[in-house]
Amino acid sequence: MKIYNTLSRKKEELKTIEEGKVRVYVCGPTVYNLIHIGNARPLIVFDTFRRYLEYIGYEVNFVQNFTDIDDKIIKKANEEECSIGEITERYIGEYFTDAKGLGVRAATVHPKATENIEGIIDFISDLMEKGYAYESQGDVYFRTKKFHEYGKLSHMPLEELEAGARIDVSDIKEDPMDFALWKKAKEGEPYYNSPFSEGRPGWHIECSVMANKYLGQTIDIHCGGKDLSFPHHENEIAQSECKNGCTFANYWMHNGFLNIDNKKMSKSKNNFFTVREIAEKYGYETIRFFMLQAHYRTPINFTQEIIEGSKASLERLYNCLENMNYVIKNSSVSKNEEDDKIIESVLCYKEKFKEAMEDDLNTADAISAIFELTRDININLMEDKNPSLYLAEEFKKLFTELCGVLNIVEEKTEVLDEEIEKLIEERQQARKNKDFKRADEIRDYLKEKGIVLEDTREGVKFKRV
Ligand code: AMP
Ligand code: ZN
Repeated sequence: MKIYNTLSRKKEELKTIEEGKVRVYVCGPTVYNLIHIGNARPLIVFDTFRRYLEYIGYEVNFVQNFTDIDDKIIKKANEEECSIGEITERYIGEYFTDAKGLGVRAATVHPKATENIEGIIDFISDLMEKGYAYESQGDVYFRTKKFHEYGKLSHMPLEELEAGARIDVSDIKEDPMDFALWKKAKEGEPYYNSPFSEGRPGWHIECSVMANKYLGQTIDIHCGGKDLSFPHHENEIAQSECKNGCTFANYWMHNGFLNIDNKKMSKSKNNFFTVREIAEKYGYETIRFFMLQAHYRTPINFTQEIIEGSKASLERLYNCLENMNYVIKNSSVSKNEEDDKIIESVLCYKEKFKEAMEDDLNTADAISAIFELTRDININLMEDKNPSLYLAEEFKKLFTELCGVLNIVEEKTEVLDEEIEKLIEERQQARKNKDFKRADEIRDYLKEKGIVLEDTREGVKFKRV
């Protein structure tokens, strides 16, 4: 498989450190809010990448952190007069709700910064011993100019990065480009004890530490949104390579940005959407499909028309699934003579699909291949052709295999009326026992299956939507 490596600015053949295994690190969310529609892009893209790697036989160790200590989290906790733990726990829960809806699997490990403080302190101490970091008034900074390769990911010399960056000049730092590894706590802020001060880690250091801990000193692929390449990823490289004396990540993959109506998403401009609100309107699976319709590196534009278009396109795939299921259920022919030939003639779409995915995860072309397959399936399953059970089943296998890699088009299993009645009864009982958690679980489960409950005078009724 070829992937575009931001480090070399070229598409490169993927060669992993250990044969058959891939070590992937993805920068995860800062957990103080519901994730927004832009955040969904790296989630979906790198989940699809992981699924494809597995499809072609790799064992993938996939690490994605949660940044659970940071200025924004502290601010939110102060606003709500609660602990940062309450905030982060709540939004980690919300993250998993959205991720599940989007068809994004949980990572192999989801390490948290606050659970790795000791490792962070050791890492910083090591950098200080090696002369790459210094303490100043309780803060610890990285001596950026001591790392001569700084800027190699952005392909910019440090001086140019310096000119373009918004850096705070302060007399605490030796040089304006130095960045914080540890920050001394201000009055009233939560803190951890350390040899440097009572304080908390800077943002960049946690990723270096957790990648090192869970994946080793050199990892195969590091992923994240384009905005993270500078300064976050440059800083991760600097920290890790100065401490370990070896390459930090062999490949760097960055997803392009999502804009709203061709404008940068921003709360102040009133064009900011959470995944939750878009999912309520169009469904989670439409969001996933929408993201995969574009190549992951190109910028994408999000508008109402475009997402509605995605919903309609996805519907076409569901129609094809329905066609296949109809024939499987109703066909009176087990096999026709020409079936094998027909099956062979559509295998080219699987090749097309794979070729696209092998070429830097081109999900846009992979989806086109699925649509071509769909067109042929629909033609061959037309009633006047008297299609066989065998043909429909073979088509379905192929269709499901390809859609499965992208995790689009999920076969909805019907819930029988009896099962619903039973669950409604269990829910009523749970409510009587004040077990509202179970009651809500049942309601949510049914909602997921498209069944809505209604309280009426004659009791609880259900309706399929
Ligand atoms: P943040 O919580 O802002 O650190 O973002 C989490 C992830 O979402 C990072 O990988 C960001 O690069 C990515 N991200 C944030 N905004 C967008 C956007 N508008 N389009 C695509 N990716 C984004
Ligand atoms: Zn990171």
